[in-house]
Amino acid sequence: MSTVSTVNGGISFWYADEGTPAPREPLPGDTTADVCIVGGGYTGLWTAYYLKKAVPFLNITVLEARFCGYGASGRNGGWLYNGIAGRARYARLHGHDAAVRLQKAMNDTVGEVIGTAAAENIDADIHHGGVLEIAHSPAQLARLKDFHSVEIAFGETDRVLRGARETAERVHVTGAVGSTWTPHGARLHPAKLVKGLADTVEALGVTIHESTPVTEIKPKHAVTPYGTVRAPYVLRCTEGFTAGLKGHRRTWLPMNSSMIVTEPLPEALWDTIGWDGRETLGDMAHAYMYAQRTADNRIALGGRGVPYRYGSATDNDGRTRPATIEALRDLLVRFFPTTAGTRIDHAWSGVLGVPRDWCATVTLDRSTGLGWAGGYVGSGVATANLAARTLRDLIQQDSGQAGPTDLTTLPWVNHKVRRWEPEPLRWLGVHALYAAYRTADRREATSPQAGTDRIAKAADRISGRG
Ligand SMILES: Cc1cc2nc3c(=O)[nH]c(=O)nc-3n(C[C@H](O)[C@H](O)[C@H](O)COP(=O)(O)OP(=O)(O)OC[C@H]3O[C@@H](n4cnc5c(N)ncnc54)[C@H](O)[C@@H]3O)c2cc1C
Repeated sequence: MSTVSTVNGGISFWYADEGTPAPREPLPGDTTADVCIVGGGYTGLWTAYYLKKAVPFLNITVLEARFCGYGASGRNGGWLYNGIAGRARYARLHGHDAAVRLQKAMNDTVGEVIGTAAAENIDADIHHGGVLEIAHSPAQLARLKDFHSVEIAFGETDRVLRGARETAERVHVTGAVGSTWTPHGARLHPAKLVKGLADTVEALGVTIHESTPVTEIKPKHAVTPYGTVRAPYVLRCTEGFTAGLKGHRRTWLPMNSSMIVTEPLPEALWDTIGWDGRETLGDMAHAYMYAQRTADNRIALGGRGVPYRYGSATDNDGRTRPATIEALRDLLVRFFPTTAGTRIDHAWSGVLGVPRDWCATVTLDRSTGLGWAGGYVGSGVATANLAARTLRDLIQQDSGQAGPTDLTTLPWVNHKVRRWEPEPLRWLGVHALYAAYRTADRREATSPQAGTDRIAKAADRISGRG
C-alpha cells in the first residue's frame, strides 16, 4: 500500500471530490440584523435554516471566517448518528428520564436531517444503514455489552447485539468478536450536506458573508476587520475554532481528528470485505476508529492522531502528520488485510470542540442575547441539527413569540461548565490522557481479561470524561 501519492490536507477529500464552493462576498461594512450567526458549519447553517423557516421576515446574517463548511462540517467521517456527548452526566444532574428525553430527541434528529435534506433536494449521498460498532478483544467485548445494555436502558430498544459469526455476515473485520448495531444512524457525504445547506439558506433569504473572521463577540455585536454587525441576538457557532475568539481561549478545547480515504475498491475486494449494508463502522477502543463505505466505494477511516496542539492551535487547511497517515493506514490494514495493496488517495484532519466536562451544550443567555451551541466532542453531525432547532425555540421564547417547548426543556440547555486549565497544563493533560488510552488499548488487545484496563478507567476519572 502506498501513501507516496496521498494528498495531505487541502481541507478534506470531501472537497477534492465535490469541489470547493464559489466564494461569497465578505462583509462590506457596518450593518444590522435581527440575528447574527458566527460560523458557517452545520450548527450555524441549520440555525439559520430553522429560524428563517419559522419567521420568514427575520433578517439573518451569517459571518464565516473562510467558507461555509471549512471546519469540521466539511471534514468529518459522515456518521449521522444519535450519539450525544454528556448524556451520563445529564442523567446524574437531571435524572434518568430527562436524559432519556434527550436521547429520544437525538434518535429523532437522524430522521429529521434525512427528511429535511430530501425535502430541500440536498443530495448528500445519505444511506440509512445504521451504525455498527465492533469489539476486537475480551475487554472491548465486555465494554460493548455494557454499552449495549446502557443504550437499551436509555430507550433504544431497537438496538441489537451480534456475535462473531453474525458480525462477519455484515462485514469481515479481522479479529472481530462481536458487535452492536442500531438503526439510528446513516452514512453521508459531509461537504455535500454543508454546501447544500448553505445554498438552501441563501435561497431562503439569509445573508452569508464569507472570508469574514469575527474577532470578538459581545452583547449585540459581532466585530470583524471589515465592520461590525449589530443584532439583538448574536450566536457563536464556531465549535473547535472557538479558542480563536477574544476571551474564549479556554472555553472549548480544539481536539484533532484525522482521516484517510482509499482509492475506490474493486468489486473483487469488496467480496472479501462484505459491508453491503454500508453501516457506519466503529470500534470499542479507547482511542476509537470510525469509518464509512463511501458512495463511490472507497473506505474513509478516521482516528485520533495527535490529539491536541499546544495553545489551542488548529491545523493548516487540514494537513495532518505523515506519522498519523501511516498509523491510520496500519489500522485500515489491521481491520481489512486485503486492502494491503490499496492506494490511500487523501488524508486530512480537523478540529472538534471539547468542553472541560465533555458535555455538549446549547445556550441562550437571555440577559445579553448571546447564544452558542457546540462542544459535541466528535458527535456533532446530528447534534448540530438538534442544537439549531433548540436555538430557534429559545429565540422565539425570548422574543415572546412562543413558550417553552419540548426542546427548550432538554437537560443540555443552558448547561454551565468550567473552563480548561491554562497552558502548559492543558497540553500536558490531554497528551497524558491519550497516551494512557493508547497504552490501555495495547494492553487490552493482548489480554485475556474481560474488564476495561485500569489505566483507561483512571484516565476517564481524572479527565472528567466518564
Ligand atoms: C475529522 C473529523 C471527523 C468527525 N467525524 C464525525 C462523525 O462522523 N460524526 C459526527 O457526528 N461528528 C463528527 N465530527 C464532529 C462534527 O463534524 C462537528 O462536531 C460538527 O461538524 C460541528 O459543526 P459546527 O458547525 O458546530 O462547527 P464547524 O463545522 O467547525 O464550523 C465552524 C465554522 O466557524 C468558522 N469560524 C471559526 N472561527 C470563526 C470566526 N472567528 N469568525 C467567523 N467564522 C469562524 C469556521 O471556519 C467554520 O466554518 C468529526 C470532526 C472531525 C474534525
